[in-house]
Amino acid sequence: MRYLLANLFLLSISALEAQQYIPRCNFDSLYINSIKSHQFVKLIENEEIAFEKYMKNKGKSEQNSSIYTIPVVVHIVQNEDNTEMVISDDQVFEQINILNLSYNALNEDINQTPSEFETVLGNPEIEFCLASVDPMGYSTTGITRTITSVTSFSTAQDNIKYTNQGGIDAWDTDSYLNIWVGKITSGVLGYSNTPTANIPDHEQGIVVGYSYFGHTEHDKYNMGKTAVHELGHYLNLKHPWGIGGCDSNNDFVTDTPNSEDAYFGNPIHPQVSCETNDMFMNYMDYVNDSSMVMFSQGQVDRMQFALLYYRPSILESNGCGIPALISEYDIIHASESEASDGGVHIEIASGIPPYDILYLQNGDTIAEDVMDLLGITPGDYIVQIIDSVGQQLTIDLQISFYGNLIDSDNFESYSPDSLLFLQTNNWMAFCQDTFAANIDFISPYEGSQYLEINGNDGHNEISKNLGDLQSNAYDLSFLLYVPQARSASYTVYNESLCSDTEIAYQVTYDDEGNGFAISTGEEIPFNFPQGQWFKMSQLIDLDRNILELYVGSQKVANFPYYSGTSDAFDSVKLSKIVFNGLIDTLPNLHYFLDDFKFILAPNSDLIDNEYKIPEKAVLYPNPVSNILNIQLPDSDIIAYQIRVMNSMGQTLIPRNQIQGGNLYSINIDDLPFGLFYLELSSKDSRQILKFVHLDD
Ligand SMILES: [Zn+2]
Repeated sequence: MRYLLANLFLLSISALEAQQYIPRCNFDSLYINSIKSHQFVKLIENEEIAFEKYMKNKGKSEQNSSIYTIPVVVHIVQNEDNTEMVISDDQVFEQINILNLSYNALNEDINQTPSEFETVLGNPEIEFCLASVDPMGYSTTGITRTITSVTSFSTAQDNIKYTNQGGIDAWDTDSYLNIWVGKITSGVLGYSNTPTANIPDHEQGIVVGYSYFGHTEHDKYNMGKTAVHELGHYLNLKHPWGIGGCDSNNDFVTDTPNSEDAYFGNPIHPQVSCETNDMFMNYMDYVNDSSMVMFSQGQVDRMQFALLYYRPSILESNGCGIPALISEYDIIHASESEASDGGVHIEIASGIPPYDILYLQNGDTIAEDVMDLLGITPGDYIVQIIDSVGQQLTIDLQISFYGNLIDSDNFESYSPDSLLFLQTNNWMAFCQDTFAANIDFISPYEGSQYLEINGNDGHNEISKNLGDLQSNAYDLSFLLYVPQARSASYTVYNESLCSDTEIAYQVTYDDEGNGFAISTGEEIPFNFPQGQWFKMSQLIDLDRNILELYVGSQKVANFPYYSGTSDAFDSVKLSKIVFNGLIDTLPNLHYFLDDFKFILAPNSDLIDNEYKIPEKAVLYPNPVSNILNIQLPDSDIIAYQIRVMNSMGQTLIPRNQIQGGNLYSINIDDLPFGLFYLELSSKDSRQILKFVHLDD
């Protein structure tokens, strides 16, 4: 109550001042809310017991002072229209430097500490390093940049910490200190929670208003002290006035004098409240940046304890360690089996440069220290990469050619009238199912035998593994025979782990001669000939997420190959085809299968609106020689900007406004050979797409 009165008092006498002075943070209201909970009070009691123990032990081993290191990621969230709001990398480095000076008692202005407080000056001995390794193990600058349409973020909703609300999600808060920088709504400079706060783990960290981050031009809060203050809260410090009034244990720190309320501006020492001279020059007060200069030893003990007690994992983090050597590559297959127009492009995504790169074929070195190897014939290749700290990576590559038969089976090599699963591992039961299909030989289409699948024998889920493919296009074909008044079906899986199956599409043939291609929520009908062999084929283009389905030479359907999740384009895969007996839904299931073929194929040449518009933009053809098509996603966005960059982020084709329609083409003939990035941005979105340019 006293606190509230004090605040009301402040508000009433200083309506004018309120214009000038901004509360450093909203910590008090968060904290007052917390202490209403019994759970929280219990937590604090346990903390106090642990803290006493810690201090006793600390007294015994005084020599054991260690420097703590905390990896930091700084998330700059900038409004797209706010041109003032530019935070440079240098400003980030300055802010980290300010933290390191303040948290090692190396700041020059520490000499402003009045002599009566010199004896309680503390040195936290905590260092902050910008992360060099991101949560995936990749190298990073430790700075993320997000362009947002949100003009101002709410302290109450904490939406700056959520990607889906226009901010950006935290990096693992057990391993990184997350600092968000942006425009925040309510009248505070920044905010933070103590480690005991009842908030989700991924909200741990501090938020600083962009005008107060690093050295700025603000007339009061221009020396980067807001981050110093908020970090104090992150390490469990409270304001010197606690929850207000002259309660003797108001901030749980013995060597900070009791003080009644916050100080603002640049007070002159001494200032008295609760009958003592106040330590208003403490980082945890609300004075101007130029007036806050020190932590007390009691605060240092609290912070070091909090780090070990509440946040020990951050001290074990590899966030400032050596990033793993990680490489990605794009393969260009040859046009024919004997052709020498294959190629590979290497992209080193993470590691410590410079790199040694070796290309080997049959044990011989055929090239070194280039990112592109062109003009190679189909075959097996090895790429060895070593970075400057000796991390090694070996990539086995197979250059194939379009038309290459990857897999096939005509069922001629098995014994007739015998269960197939006893004879081969190429065809397996699917998940928990039985597997009773057998080899038959009555009226074959070609050769002398084929596979018979009969619903009377049980479910019969017969699967053929196609790999775990994520790129290129494939022609998958086989012969089917569905007798009169009988039915058939097969399913192609995006993901076929039995614990997590994702169907790409399904094809069924009912006993009245009606076929159906079934993708998410849609059934496309087609006709097929009953009582005779016919060829069923499909072009599965994983690069473009397109499926084209053919009966004989007749195209009967095309639609997105996989649209199972909202983020489908990232997880397009081809894993298995399963010939199944859906005996629960398809009566009279009984059919024959022969001449199974799986072939590497060129990409689909469908253009414009021949197939459904994808959820994300798609580039094709890819690799591309001169005209690159951009299939725009299905959305309400009318205007996009496109830009082409190289892997260093340098612009090669400048920003270009494109409007209307779903398809756009650009001529990229002038680009050299190699891997490039197309940035597609609108008011609310940004997407980066990769493509390989072939030199023709
Ligand atoms: Zn505060």
